[in-house]
Amino acid sequence: MAIKTIRKWRRLYQRQGLPRLGSGCPASPCPRCDYADLNESAYAHLLGWYLGDGHIARARRSVYVLSISNDPKYSRLPDEIAATMRLVKPTGSPCKRGGHATRIEVRWKRWPCLFPQHGPGRKHLRKIEVADWQQEIVAR
Ligand SMILES: [Zn+2]
Repeated sequence: MAIKTIRKWRRLYQRQGLPRLGSGCPASPCPRCDYADLNESAYAHLLGWYLGDGHIARARRSVYVLSISNDPKYSRLPDEIAATMRLVKPTGSPCKRGGHATRIEVRWKRWPCLFPQHGPGRKHLRKIEVADWQQEIVAR
């Protein structure tokens, strides 16, 4: 890649004042805390998957991993789930795990903001409520 392009990007990011991580790459701003754009239809889709077959786990450095399980008999779903994840977190790179891509994962510090249903213990043993703003997005 041309150094000119990289400089251009850097200027762009600096102008936008995006928060930076230690590595120098810009952190993805949070749609809830930073009013970053959110693809609402993709989010509504992902919320459905999360509530049905997903979970969020805390990884190192306060990064969270959103993981959606997938029945291997639906072979096209992993790509669809990964594409939806990319629409919700444009800088994300979802990865498929398991022999038949039975889990699709993407890491982000902001998942708990977007999915406040996240909490300790198993999701089906906790009381899960959909927040008002989530309901509004789904309705739209
Ligand atoms: Zn947030």
